[in-house]
Amino acid sequence: MTSIPAYRRPAPDVAASIGDTPLVALDRLFPPDRFRVHAKMEGLNPGGSVKDRTARSIIEHALATGDLVPGFSTVVESTSGNLGIALAQLCNLHGLGLVCVTDARATRQNVAVMRAYGARVECVERDSASGEYLPARIARVRHLLATLPGAYWPDQYANELGALAHHTTMREICEALPLPPDHLFLAAGTTGTLRGCAEYVRDHGLPTRITAVDAVGSVIFGPTEPWERHHRRAVPGHGAALAPPLLRPGLADRVVKVTDFESVEGCRALLARESVLAGGSSGAVVTALRRSADLLEPGASVAVILPDRGERYLDTVYRDSWVQATFGRLPSVDGDNAPPRS
Ligand code: PMP
Repeated sequence: MTSIPAYRRPAPDVAASIGDTPLVALDRLFPPDRFRVHAKMEGLNPGGSVKDRTARSIIEHALATGDLVPGFSTVVESTSGNLGIALAQLCNLHGLGLVCVTDARATRQNVAVMRAYGARVECVERDSASGEYLPARIARVRHLLATLPGAYWPDQYANELGALAHHTTMREICEALPLPPDHLFLAAGTTGTLRGCAEYVRDHGLPTRITAVDAVGSVIFGPTEPWERHHRRAVPGHGAALAPPLLRPGLADRVVKVTDFESVEGCRALLARESVLAGGSSGAVVTALRRSADLLEPGASVAVILPDRGERYLDTVYRDSWVQATFGRLPSVDGDNAPPRS
């Protein structure tokens, strides 16, 4: 009798169906004559993003330790949307309350999805001192933790379980390819994906070199350059306004910073060439790889992680009027971004 691979067996519930996402070749966008690119489609998780792994890891651990009690506890978290949706799905599944603290950059659709799962969504204004949203969101979370009975904070920027969840991401990439990839390109926010994948590479002695993709204006890998300071980030997901406590020195071999407009360009190219409708940080990863193409050795195998789906960005990244109003121009539809003509 042949054994059925894990990903083909029925999952006992939706949480158990998280992970084992497909790995897809991007041969149209990156012709394989120079190097071969495969994309890990994290948007195909049941909650629609890479953060499903993070949420499952944190919630299941807290349920097991008794820090979360179904019917009593309320999870409180600051989230730009994807972790909120992932938590909302799992909290609904496990009978837990959820308050998501977010800001004006969260799309209407994300907020609607969180609410559909039963979450309470609170939107904060920018912090008056820094002009950033994140400090204001964290302050609101701390207030709720102090006042709401049974409140529990996953603390995504510092929770080691968020990084541990991504050992599986790298393991799955390696299992799907004949050899571990020479390069991995991924977007950094909390740096959970980066740390989890980097730890897996280190623990298994893999040759994979990791390029972390950050947003211009983000402080993850050190203070912003003077020219970056006026850059107000408009695309949520990757980048951060505070240095994430999860980050450790040396996790990334290279860091590439991408503007929001370049993220949009990357998204549009991915859609035009590959018919992959992905989120803003996926576009950033694509742009970072295009910019790095000359540095890659001939015949290299490259894996990229595409963190979420584009449906969540229809009112922003994929709406010309928003792109024009935000950046004062539109990505070129000719040349590199045009679909191949036969
Ligand atoms: N891209 C998207 C769309 C995300 O939601 C996130 C998480 N905020 C990231 C990238 C970054 O992932 P991580 O938090 O693991 O660094």
